[in-house]
Amino acid sequence: MALNVVFLGPPGVGKGTQAERLAGSRGLWHVSTGAILRACVRDGFGPDGTAGNPDLVRQTAAILKAGQLVPDDLMMVLIRETLAEVPAGSSGWLLDGFPRTAPQAEGLIALVAELGADEPIVLEIHVPDEEIVRRLSGRLTCSTCGHVTAAGAAVEGDDCRVCDGHLAMREDDRPETVRNRLMVFREKTRPAKDVLAARYRFERIDGLGSPNDVTQRIAGVLEAAS
Ligand code: AMP
Repeated sequence: MALNVVFLGPPGVGKGTQAERLAGSRGLWHVSTGAILRACVRDGFGPDGTAGNPDLVRQTAAILKAGQLVPDDLMMVLIRETLAEVPAGSSGWLLDGFPRTAPQAEGLIALVAELGADEPIVLEIHVPDEEIVRRLSGRLTCSTCGHVTAAGAAVEGDDCRVCDGHLAMREDDRPETVRNRLMVFREKTRPAKDVLAARYRFERIDGLGSPNDVTQRIAGVLEAAS
């Protein structure tokens, strides 16, 4: 049986870091919709995979920059195409950043059934808002591979320790946009959690403490669930 996982939680809660670790340790396919969208913008594709529509690319770039959400219909095309092509050899998939709205959550439930995929376990990582703003306002992200380095551990322009890229602050990690992303999370993404929690196994993980503490908590929850 495949291990399919959905990570939920606001930006800055450590989802990306934990997703990278869990995917690595369990051989899961890490699907970060934010990373896919940033790559689409960079390479001139729409979220639905179409090329040759510069307006759509520009609109998507503006949405990401403002911390708003890409429309649900485009996100459903993106996730459908992504989950239809899970690489052979992976032990399951791990969604990081999807779903973010109730309609996306309902779309995911329908898609899992349609594809005959194993039902995912939903893990919500939780930390208080003040801690999120503190973490996001200093973190640096590799513009090549997306690896995240915590505030204070490096400065902009430093070499990434995973690839040969360089660290920079993500445009949407600036304080004004962070506040907007948290508001969008509260309004739109909380309802997505309720939809998933009513349908799949749901576990809340305490995201405070060191990244290693959180990794251990996640491993404990998955152990108990298997
Ligand atoms: P992330 O890297 O997960 O923080 O995502 C960065 C940005 O990509 C978000 O602020 C949204 O603009 C966009 N995005 C990522 N995933 C989704 C989604 N499931 N639905 C709509 N927009 C998304």
